[in-house]
Amino acid sequence: MTTNTPSLSPSDIEQLIADRRDLHAHPELGYTEQRTASLIAERLDAHGYEVTRHVGRTGVVGLLEGTKAATEANSVSDGEAARTLLYRADMDALPVHEENEVAYRSQNEGVMHACGHDAHVAIALAVAARMAEARDQFRGHLKFAFQPAEEGGNGATAMIEDGVLAVPDVTAAIGLHVWNNFPVGTVGVYAGPMMAAVDEFHLVIHGRGGHGAMPQQTVDAIVVAAQVVTALQTIVSRNVSPLDAAVVTVGKITGGSAFNVIAGAVELRGTVRTFSKEAHTHIPGQFERVVRGVCEAMGASHTLDYKRQTPPLINNADMCELVANCAADVVGRDGVIRDDSVRTMGGEDMSYFLERVPGCYFFLGTRNEARGLVHPHHSPRFDIDETALATGVEIMARVIRRYLA
Ligand SMILES: [Zn+2]
Ligand SMILES: [Zn+2]
Repeated sequence: MTTNTPSLSPSDIEQLIADRRDLHAHPELGYTEQRTASLIAERLDAHGYEVTRHVGRTGVVGLLEGTKAATEANSVSDGEAARTLLYRADMDALPVHEENEVAYRSQNEGVMHACGHDAHVAIALAVAARMAEARDQFRGHLKFAFQPAEEGGNGATAMIEDGVLAVPDVTAAIGLHVWNNFPVGTVGVYAGPMMAAVDEFHLVIHGRGGHGAMPQQTVDAIVVAAQVVTALQTIVSRNVSPLDAAVVTVGKITGGSAFNVIAGAVELRGTVRTFSKEAHTHIPGQFERVVRGVCEAMGASHTLDYKRQTPPLINNADMCELVANCAADVVGRDGVIRDDSVRTMGGEDMSYFLERVPGCYFFLGTRNEARGLVHPHHSPRFDIDETALATGVEIMARVIRRYLA
């Protein structure tokens, strides 16, 4: 550990944990993060940040310029703009009823920080405080984006549309997610496609209902739906490269009314997950073609609502090297997980930032078997090992200093 990067003092750690517990006790759903946003804005303002509220409705942006003088070694050459690093932390909670019996249990009935975004905000606030004290140790701009509505509300796009990536132009982005799949003391960093694109579909097959004993007078929507479900699976097995990962899931089917009635319509809902840009781009067209072809062949018609939720989250290799090196300084080389176990078919709207600027989104291990902190994200019993919070701060402070050296 160098003198430039002092570790957190006991009172810093106390504050960090107190912040996380305060946020945990007062969770707010996407786009209603008023208390959270006020707390963040006050704190950033007190540390000398230029604060902008209501960026993406309830989002908060904090901007700080480093004062480190340019030296021969690090001077920015003509034509090369100064760097601006975006640190993104999401703020929203979930509509989950907390079942943990802890002092900091949710006081907002039916709402819970069951994904760990309370930890993300607490870590980012501690990093913000630390970088304000260390302004003379970096150059360029550090921009915090406290993002609303990650859980299905697409707060990332809302902030981007409100200009979070401009003035000054962001040159790279970082962020982390606490991760109960990894033990505390470990960090997961993966260069390339780390989290899947999430698409959602709602399909209705229209046939012609009738008597269960007289199929010749009908178009049986259930028989058509059965063919469609089977045919859709060939998208993954026959259209996507076997070296690429994709999932087509029909999660819900509803149709029919009685044992002796042929159904006139069937409704199907599901999700498509992809990693590569190629699969993400081509699957919707193939999906529609399969549905149309099967329906036409059997005399049925369809209506399809196919929605993009989030693109695949793709990390930049250089930024991942930087983060992995900083993480190794804090948790040791052995604590940095870089294999396929980091990847998940889950989605994250951080992907919208990483589509536009190079960056690294990584996982901070928070699982602790001995203490029973093993419950998955979104579970009513989700909780984390808080010793990971300081680890997150130490890593992020190093990444900022090195990127903005
Ligand atoms: Zn979540
Ligand atoms: Zn989350």
